[in-house]
Amino acid sequence: MSNDVVLITGGSRGIGAATARLAAVRGYRVCVNFRTDEAAAADVVDEIRAAGGTAIAVRADVTRSAEVDRLFRAVDDELGPLTALVNNAGTLEKQCRLDELDEERLTRIWAANITGPFLCAGAAVRRMSTRYGGAGGAIVNVSSAAARLGSPNEYVDYAASKGALDSMTTGLALEVAAEGIRVNSVRPGLIHTGIHALGGDPGRVDRVGPLLPMGRGGQPEEIAETILFLLSPASSYTTGAFVDLAGGR
Ligand code: NAP
Repeated sequence: MSNDVVLITGGSRGIGAATARLAAVRGYRVCVNFRTDEAAAADVVDEIRAAGGTAIAVRADVTRSAEVDRLFRAVDDELGPLTALVNNAGTLEKQCRLDELDEERLTRIWAANITGPFLCAGAAVRRMSTRYGGAGGAIVNVSSAAARLGSPNEYVDYAASKGALDSMTTGLALEVAAEGIRVNSVRPGLIHTGIHALGGDPGRVDRVGPLLPMGRGGQPEEIAETILFLLSPASSYTTGAFVDLAGGR
């Protein structure tokens, strides 16, 4: 049996669910984290188990440190020593201009897209770093092309939160480079998932996809492939890297 254990935050839907399925195919024991949609998480776990894999679903809001601690302890107890983290959970809210944003929304976006990944990365480092007696591992942060593009008139707050996540990727990669942990990032563009409905624009990928250089939006499975590459020994000399998966934009 493989010793690879991966925790995927927000693994119940979209890019996270595609990553969970592919990780199981590649031999990882998989923790599918979710916050609200228990049925979606159960579907992913059932699918992995039906194919002979090992998976658990754990409800936890990654913006809350006590819940993050409980999440990682569940992985320790039920799957064994963590070897990989995918900081995938993230969110956005209704499209608007920056001058329409209020304090409450900014607090929610920073919490989901910055605090959550920081708390999870810290918990992963305390388990995987050789400094703590761990055996090393890999972290992939799921950022966004928005960090480069700024998302004007849509969600500058979301774009800025992913910019902060990119800074964390760079800093943490250097901090733990000599401790057996690689930290890399994927920056997807327009991907067919449910996240666009949260912005009030469920048809966004179909509408904007044809305008991209490749003429289409991306599929969650296309992001999962690169995440699994960055977790795997095939990328053993890569850290602090950003892979743009945005159809040429
Ligand atoms: P999605 O379909 O909306 O799925 C989001 C996932 O995150 C769900 O599993 C959700 O769980 C979970 N989640 C949200 N907040 C959470 C929290 N506080 N704690 C734990 N889990 C939480 O989104 P997606 O499109 O797959 O996006 C995944 C990542 O890719 C995000 O970081 C997003 O910013 C990034 N991204 C997406 C696109 C795109 O076009 N889709 C482009 C660039 C980057 P519940 O369902 O239980 O709430």
